[in-house]
Amino acid sequence: MSAILEAVNLRAAYGDRPVLFGIDLRVPERGIVALLGANGAGKTTTLRALLAEVRTWGDVRYQGESIAGKSTQDLVRMGMVMVPEGRGTFTDFTVEENLLLGAYSRRDKDGIRRDIERMYGYFPVLGQRRKQRAGSMSGGEQQMLAIARALMSRPKLLLLDEPSLGLAPLIVQEIFGILTTINREEGVSMLLVEQDAVRALKVATYAYLLETGRVALEGTADQLAASDDVRRAYLGY
Ligand code: ATP
Repeated sequence: MSAILEAVNLRAAYGDRPVLFGIDLRVPERGIVALLGANGAGKTTTLRALLAEVRTWGDVRYQGESIAGKSTQDLVRMGMVMVPEGRGTFTDFTVEENLLLGAYSRRDKDGIRRDIERMYGYFPVLGQRRKQRAGSMSGGEQQMLAIARALMSRPKLLLLDEPSLGLAPLIVQEIFGILTTINREEGVSMLLVEQDAVRALKVATYAYLLETGRVALEGTADQLAASDDVRRAYLGY
């Protein structure tokens, strides 16, 4: 299958401090790929490097085209959008205002309206709370809003940073179910950073395990779930 995203020898640094040491990874068109690893392994930095938010070297191709020299804004306009860890919703704004902000680069008013309703279809609780301030909602609802807001820009590739963080298992299950539906129905590709390997390997088809800025292991989700190393370190059995 052709790749929507392909990184070859991706390196990144914060100031003088190198953090990624040559990562090769690939997200197939319409695929869900998981990026696993312990705290500090470099998962968030990989997403930030792909979006040109940190100093980066290496070759990244998006939709078959090198994105060297592109700004984060260019990349967002091209459909590569991050849902940051910690959600990053505008807490003083209502649900609906957050969704409108997600569509800031679009001019098609009718399309935006339709997409807002579509988001309420995927996330009914957001529809029920459309006039509520984002900051007054639960963590799970805010995570849903962050995902819906990112989708309002009509991304082709969603970079999700730990969507399960701090949420109860049932909510995580619900969110991952909705992500799978969106992937299937809309063909949005996803690169999913997760510490919850069990959950991530259920929705992803392929996965990478990062250790101190390098790919320590990669394979199909089934292969990784069956790996002794992954089981011991991340699955707890
Ligand atoms: P976590 O699950 O904790 O977010 P991670 O796998 O996403 O972990 P990163 O956040 O990418 O890991 O961090 C990789 C390394 O880069 C860590 O050693 C971290 O301390 C360092 N680092 C992260 N952000 C910065 C920053 N803004 N400035 C300097 N060093 C940073």
